[in-house]
Amino acid sequence: MPKVPGGDSFWTNLATSVFLLMLLVGVYTYFVTDQSKQPTDIPISQLAQDVQAGKVATISVDGDDLTIAYADKTEKISKKEPDAALSQTLTNYGVPKDALDKVSINIKRENSWLFWFTALSPFLAPLLLILFFIWYLSRQVKGAGMQAFSFGQSKPRVIDPNDKVQRVTFKDVAGAKEAKIELLEIVDFLKNPKKFLDIGARIPKGILLMGSAGTGKTLLARAVAGEAGVPFFSISGSEFVEMFVGVGASRVRDLFLMAKKAAPAIIFVDEIDAVGRVRGTGVGGGNDEREQTLNQILVEMDGFEPNEKVIVIAATNRPDVLDPALVRPGRFDRRVVIDLPDRQDRNEILHIHARRKPLAEDVNLGVIAERTPGFSGADLANLMNEAAILAARENRKTVAQYDLIRSIEKVMLGPERKTHVLNLKEKEITAYHEAGHALVASLLPYADPVHKISIISRGRAAGYTLKLPFEDKRMQSKLEFLDDIAMALGGYVAEKTVFGDITTGPSNDLQVLTGLARDMVTKYGMSDKMGTIALEGEGGRALFGAGVEGKEYSEKVSAEIDGEVKSIIDGAYQKAVSIITEYRKVLDIIAHRLVETETIEREEFETILVANGIQPKKRQDIEPRPAVVNF
Ligand code: ADP
Ligand code: MG
Ligand code: ZN
Repeated sequence: MPKVPGGDSFWTNLATSVFLLMLLVGVYTYFVTDQSKQPTDIPISQLAQDVQAGKVATISVDGDDLTIAYADKTEKISKKEPDAALSQTLTNYGVPKDALDKVSINIKRENSWLFWFTALSPFLAPLLLILFFIWYLSRQVKGAGMQAFSFGQSKPRVIDPNDKVQRVTFKDVAGAKEAKIELLEIVDFLKNPKKFLDIGARIPKGILLMGSAGTGKTLLARAVAGEAGVPFFSISGSEFVEMFVGVGASRVRDLFLMAKKAAPAIIFVDEIDAVGRVRGTGVGGGNDEREQTLNQILVEMDGFEPNEKVIVIAATNRPDVLDPALVRPGRFDRRVVIDLPDRQDRNEILHIHARRKPLAEDVNLGVIAERTPGFSGADLANLMNEAAILAARENRKTVAQYDLIRSIEKVMLGPERKTHVLNLKEKEITAYHEAGHALVASLLPYADPVHKISIISRGRAAGYTLKLPFEDKRMQSKLEFLDDIAMALGGYVAEKTVFGDITTGPSNDLQVLTGLARDMVTKYGMSDKMGTIALEGEGGRALFGAGVEGKEYSEKVSAEIDGEVKSIIDGAYQKAVSIITEYRKVLDIIAHRLVETETIEREEFETILVANGIQPKKRQDIEPRPAVVNF
């Protein structure tokens, strides 16, 4: 395992410097200020008197310092005038010659090291400090210079295969069965490369994991390394988009070098779309740096020897924008799609994340899985965590089902905004708006059943109507789309009918439903007039790397599309208006109840419907599909 150049060295440097400094100060003060054992200091005039009185036995001269030993065994110190002989000084003070003769005077030869040290330390200490400082700064500057030259010495995060804490295996990844099967082959190769090489098999160099955010791409890549027991080098595409041109490329070079040294190993490039976008479109500013980085990745991958035993795994949630050069054979030629988890998978994921959380007896994760269509693995992990936080905040030792249920909405819509208080008028308008959505949804055959209506603000929404499908579904039909659009108009129509006025409330509804109607016409061929043409691709207008302006149809067709979109929306509007007018009484009941209680759960809502002669939807009534929320 190569050592990772880390940020630690700075702190070690600092610690050493501080230590040295303290040592220096310590030594200095020891020599200069340790005077505890020093005898009393007397003026030279006093000494002269004492000599005259015959009290002094010996005087040791040490430079200008005098140590005086008295006949009574006491010791005192003094100082003579510099550059003058002691005897001369004493004589000047009027000490007679015979008194002086009785004192033995020892001129001590200085311990030269100590002498110089004490003599110079007042000058030396600051000087040393300054030198030390300069040295220290120069080190820093050098370090910075190094960094500037080689951000290159990039810091890919490395996960050691022997690191039990960080190690992830397939057991930690629920669902994604196809992906796991595909990746098992890679694990096998990394564990046992010889088997494959001996038979002359060419091992894929690059694997592209594709799936929406939070589906567990990073987790799965780590699991491959964990299963194979090889080091995992990871770096994110967005990190390459650095400040200096050329830095990204050198980072890539270093990364591959490190991995090759540690082979067999896995290199994981997260968010590769950040560097691997279609080149030369001008979208994203034609970033030279990005192109160089991408080129370097391609060069490195092309340069792999067949026996290199390094496998590059990349992840993206925008496979549609990737440069075709990346997915050519010999590069990321294996593509593994990771779907959003279905109900069974969600159940398993919830179980994985419930491992270390004590659950109350009433918890039924199956129900939670059922109620969370469209949730990604990351959402579910988040949900579990939110539930645990809720339980802890209420000082409970276990997570209850109620915590989990509350967390679903929190994850889906953001936290409740209790401080966002509506005045009575706003409350009424919001109540009618949501009641409109709910009522229209309940009377249209292809809309999903209403699960909950609320006028408690969450995130940016003043209120919401939550509809849940009975099961997951990946396809939607034209009839369902039409009902969805009518339902989305329910809020707008209710406001208009009841108050004769429109607020800004429905603006989000209108955007969503217009987008939906547009897609029906331009993507799904659901307009009779336009016929079966897909005028636009998956990735919006940036199809095949064409710029945003790159429409493939004329102004005339464009006008026709607008006409079709309008007629779809008009039709849905009529539907909504007729429902709201016909069932105005029920609308009032629902809205008033909402103003009162702020939230209506499914059971209560269905009771209201039944009491007014509307049959609630049954499980088998409709084809289910992912959850839809109208605000
Ligand atoms: P991505 O890289 O696809 O955006 P991540 O791998 O970063 O998603 O997933 C984020 C987190 O979500 C993971 O750390 C894990 O806790 C959880 N998670 C996602 N998918 C799964 C799964 N299939 N099984 C268990 N946990 C998952
Ligand atoms: Mg990720
Ligand atoms: Zn709405």
